[in-house]
Formats: sequence, structure tokens, C-alpha cells
Amino acid sequence: MAEEYSGKKFRDKKFSGKKFPGKTVNNGIAMGKVMVLRKDQEQIKRTGIENPEQEIDRLKSAVNAAKQQIAVLYAKAVEEVGESGAAIFEIHQMMLEDENYQDAVCYVIRTEMVNAEYAAAKTGVWFAERFAGMEDAYMQARGADIKDISMRLVRNLSGQGEADFSEMEPSIIVADDLSPSDTIQMAKKKILAFVTVHGSTNSHTAILARMMSIPALIGVPVDLNEIHTGMTAIVDGAAGEVVFAPTEIQCSEAEQEIKNEEEKLRLLRELKGKKNETSDGRTINIYANIGSVSDVDDVLENDAGGIGLFRSEFLYLGRDNFPSEEEQFQAYKQVVQKMGQKKVIIRTLDIGADKQADYFQLGKEENPALGYRAIRICLKQPAIFKTQLRALLRAAVYGNLSIMYPMIISEEEVKQIHAIVEEVAQGLRQAQMPYRIPEQGIMIETPAAVMISDELAELVDFFSIGTNDLTQYTLAIDRQNQQLADFYHPHHKAILRMIKMVVDNAHKCGKWAGICGELGADTELTQEFVNMGVDELSVAPSMILKVREKVRAM
Ligand code: PEP
Ligand code: MG
Repeated sequence: MAEEYSGKKFRDKKFSGKKFPGKTVNNGIAMGKVMVLRKDQEQIKRTGIENPEQEIDRLKSAVNAAKQQIAVLYAKAVEEVGESGAAIFEIHQMMLEDENYQDAVCYVIRTEMVNAEYAAAKTGVWFAERFAGMEDAYMQARGADIKDISMRLVRNLSGQGEADFSEMEPSIIVADDLSPSDTIQMAKKKILAFVTVHGSTNSHTAILARMMSIPALIGVPVDLNEIHTGMTAIVDGAAGEVVFAPTEIQCSEAEQEIKNEEEKLRLLRELKGKKNETSDGRTINIYANIGSVSDVDDVLENDAGGIGLFRSEFLYLGRDNFPSEEEQFQAYKQVVQKMGQKKVIIRTLDIGADKQADYFQLGKEENPALGYRAIRICLKQPAIFKTQLRALLRAAVYGNLSIMYPMIISEEEVKQIHAIVEEVAQGLRQAQMPYRIPEQGIMIETPAAVMISDELAELVDFFSIGTNDLTQYTLAIDRQNQQLADFYHPHHKAILRMIKMVVDNAHKCGKWAGICGELGADTELTQEFVNMGVDELSVAPSMILKVREKVRAM
């Protein structure tokens, strides 16, 4: 075991029982082994060497190990997504075997007299830049692949090996920061908690932590070079602290606290099957937010009335190319079928800003949150949008599916979307494929949409208020910027008045309005939302019963 090495044991002693503060993203307490995720670049040190042939031998072993790893990944991908989806690993294998590539790494080792890690990383960057400069979009996208295999070599050389999340034991993930694409690749059931040095409480990674119902802390001032994979830690979300290498007393206290939490959960579960009804007879729908098909089990387990937000963009993350129509159709169909007659609101692609996938080639932006994202991409690149809409219209035949469009700012956008939906429906009709045009609503997450919500209500079937972005755009505060966390006030009067205005405008037009941003789960506001007449709250699955408890106590 890692702790047995005397050096590490010494380091663990240094930490013994030491508490590090952090900002709470999600409550709860967890104890377990740490898994440290370092950004690839952090490990690459340029070290002078004396024997280049020795480095080249190390490189050859790393290449052989990489070939085996990729072969395993290929076989797994064929099983999970079929041969066409797995083809990317064949490309990786070819690149790895390419003599030009290997010669280039050896050239750097010999001429610069440097370590193989540095040479592999440098060669990867150099090749990637050359690919990026090519005319052909397909070739441009290969830049990410060459970087990927170079980083695989670096990991093998530095002894870190394959970052295979599926095989990991249940762990507390400790990292500098995590992106949504990092987290999407992890086996959710194996993650006990998240601890990051940077990050923001309003980021999508934070949202994922809440969805997974695990304790999570950000802004923890720990030096990642001083902790190591395999050491024990306790993460206490409610107290906002993490303890590395805890003492025996701390461990037994944590065990007791974990038991208390389980008891609270057991009591909450007694609310399953009960109505979301106040003592004076008012009701509200409590739905769930999800990011993948596998989240549906949690939704049913927690007795949600439906799914109020399926962030479909997560189907596009953590992969190398667009999900096909068929792949999306299968995912949407599975969700609606699993949910039976219950409503499932699927939001169309909201990529961009912090949710990046290299193959979209969105390019660098000065202000990504105010940039090319969500519906803007769909309207400018309708081919991507139409593929998703075809999958959605086809899946709508199998259950109670609704579609929702993100980041709307004008009536023109809604009219344009409806025209595209009509065109897609016509295509399906001509191809004699079963389809249904379902209920269609929009997210209200820009101040512009709030201000014209009376007119927008005429055009759509429902509103769902995205308070995460609405707060960011109304208060002019980047939700990703942790430095501004003290200014990000989702309870700000302006936000609450906007919610009221949207709900009133929807009702005047006979439409319904819900909240699917994180504020919907804020039990300090549940009473206010019910009083405002909000029709639905869509929250992380783990929050459903807590919100129900609050409603019933009113
Ligand atoms: C929101 O902005 O409140 C929302 C629900 O969308 P997302 O958090 O995915 O941007
Ligand atoms: Mg949003």
C-alpha cells in the first residue's frame, strides 16, 4: 500500500490530522482513500540527461505500454459504442506507431539531451500545432489526438500509468481544478468526494457534485505535491474542511457522523410516495435535473415527479466526435421509457463557456460566457441542431418528452427554432419515420428574456428559469470566478423580482413556469417560490425529498 513507503509515511505524518478549510459546494461527509489528479502539464519537468539511449529505451517501453492500453480501450469502446465510435482508438494506435512521430521524439531527446517526458510533450505540442494550421477540418481535429497520445506517453513514462477511472476504487478526488469533461469520464459511483484547489461553487463541476450527492469543497489551499494517491482523508462538506491523514480519533468521529447522516437520509426516505402539498392544500411539482441516462435511477429512487432538466450537452462531452443521431435517439428514448408517463424535459445542446469539447473547435474567446454558446451555436450551425432535433422528435414517440431551448434572448430566435423543428419534422415524415412534435419551452436565463417574457409566453408552451445564468448576467458576475463568490447573491432582490415577473407573465398567457437553476433547491426560498405561484422546481435528485419536506412543513 502507498502509505507503507517510508517517504510517504513521513509525508503523511506531516499532515496527520491537519485541517484545511474550503468553500462548500455540497454538504455531506465522506472518508476514504485520496486519488490525486494532476494536470498533465504539471508533471512535465525539463530535465537534462547524460545517456540519451537510456531515455530512448524508456520511451520504447512507454510506447509498448500505450499500445496495450489503447487496444484495451478500443475493445471496450467497440462493446459500448460500436465499431464506428471506437475508430478513434485505431487512429491513436496508427499515430503512435508512426515512425515520423517516434523519430521526432528521439530527435528532441538526442539534440536537446533532455528526458523522454519532456521530449514527448514537446513533440505532441509541435505536431498538434501543425495539424491545427491545416485547411481540412478533419485534419485540424487530429491535433487533439496527437496531444492525447503524447500525454499518454508522458503518464506512462512518469509511472502514473493510465488514468482509468472505471477501475478505480472508491476515492476522494483531489485536483487543482476539474472541468465538466474531466468529471464526465469518472465512474460516478466510485467518487466519494471532490476537493479542488481552485474552481467555483457555481460551475458545472460543482453542479455535478450536487447531482451526485457527494461532499465537495473548492478553494482548498493544499499543495498537491505534498499529498499522494492512496492516503486517507475526511471531507466534511457542512463544516467546510478536509483532513488529510486523519488521526484515529478523527476517524471514529467521522464514522459516527457518517452514521448520523445515514439516519437522516433514512428519515427523509419516509417521505417517498407522499404529495408535495402544503398544509393549506397548495401543490408544486418537484422534478429532477440530470446529465446522463444513468442518473435516471437516482431520479426514480428519490421519487421525483419528472425530469425538469436533462442537460443533453453532457452527451457531447468527454469524447472526440459528435454523438450520432442514433446514439442520441437511444439515450433520449431510454430516459423517457424509464420514466414511464412522467414528464421528461430535455434541453438542447448548451455547449460553450465552461463546457468545452475540442471537436466543436469553438476557438478562444475573450468572454466565453457572453460568447458563442448554446442556442447561438445551434442556430449558426443548424446541421448539429437538426441531428439533435431529429433524435428528440423520434424519441418523443416513446413517452412524455418535452424540449427546452437554452439562452434565448429574442422572439426571432424562437420563431427560427420553430421553423427548423418544422423542417426536421417534414424530413422525418418524408422518410416515413415515426416522430412527434412535443411540448416546447424555453429557458429564461438572460435579463432580456425576462423583460420580454410577456411576448415570449405567447410563442412557447412553458418557461424554465435558469437562475445560475440569470444571476450571472443580471449581477454581471462570472459564475466561474471564485474571487467574486462573495458578490454572487442568488437571493438578490433583482433576481427574486425577475422570477416573480416571469411567473406572472407565463400565467397571464395560460402557460406554466418552473425553476431549474440551483436556486430551485434552496430550501430557504421554497416558501417564497410557492407563494409566487412557481409551478415546478427542478433540483438535483438528492434534494427532491428535502424540498418536499419543506413544502409539507409550510
Ligand atoms: C442555469 O443557468 O440556471 C441552468 C439551469 O443552466 P446551466 O447551469 O446548465 O447553465
Ligand atoms: Mg444556464
